[in-house]
Amino acid sequence: MKHLHSGKVRDLYETEDGLLLMVASDRISAFDHVLAPGIPDKGAILTQLSLWWFEQLADVVPNHVVSTDVPAEFAGRAVLCRKLRMVPVECVARGYLTGSGLIDYRREGVVSGVSLPAGLTDGSRLPEAIFTPSTKAPIGQHDEPMTYAQVVEEVGADVAERLRRITLDVYVRGAEIARERGIILADTKIELGWDAEGELVLGDEVLTPDSSRFWPLEEWQPGRSQPSFDKQFVRDWLTSPESGWDKASDEPPPPLPDEIVERTRQRYVEAYERLTGRVFRG
Ligand code: ATP
Ligand code: MG
Repeated sequence: MKHLHSGKVRDLYETEDGLLLMVASDRISAFDHVLAPGIPDKGAILTQLSLWWFEQLADVVPNHVVSTDVPAEFAGRAVLCRKLRMVPVECVARGYLTGSGLIDYRREGVVSGVSLPAGLTDGSRLPEAIFTPSTKAPIGQHDEPMTYAQVVEEVGADVAERLRRITLDVYVRGAEIARERGIILADTKIELGWDAEGELVLGDEVLTPDSSRFWPLEEWQPGRSQPSFDKQFVRDWLTSPESGWDKASDEPPPPLPDEIVERTRQRYVEAYERLTGRVFRG
């Protein structure tokens, strides 16, 4: 196999028959740093979750999954996929306002060119889900928001409309399923690409805590930052005096204590089990 690329969390290979092998590691990132140590089973949990969602979304959009029959060393945390020609747009849907969306809103009342009503705060639910695409930034740079007009310029009006429709459909379906299980899907990013037949296909990973914000429904309270389902303990510890780390410094963060690692693992397992109704066997 040919090694193609390693991101912060995943490694990509190409097989001899031209398929893509996406391997999820246990690496975890926060505040743009990859932390040490990893979270045991995270790669497997996110891979299984993504596969489960691909199935739930099968009638919304076709996907790139070919099989989970992968070399033993990657078992459970890798997927064989069709290689797509990726659309050069990060397709984001938001049902709630936070993060970069909130920053843009506070500055000009607009997120990716979409005007929002006044009076919204951190964690507010939006009147309806919105499509807030962004550029695919090269490694080490941040994605920039794109207006819908910029997407049209990039891919044409027909494709732009299809990207918007699919992204919102995936969000709405995902949010519905998550809510029944006590989880708010605040926002999510999907990636679409063209297959050999010229069809638009869902690629990458889908509706995982790495590509989405999941909040426990019972703790939702607009007006503050929401507890998140995955990295809350990690973020809290890193920003606490206990870690001795200054987020604004150039220093890499210190190693995570065992207890934070274990509680974070529990959180990922809980998200997986709540959403899928399955028991995670790691
Ligand atoms: P990071 O996520 O760490 O910010 P990254 O996005 O470069 O960096 P990964 O997410 O690990 O790293 O990389 C996955 C890459 O594979 C992305 O560029 C994504 O667009 C691409 N990709 C996903 N699915 C497919 C597919 N079916 N065919 C071709 N490329 C794909
Ligand atoms: Mg990525």
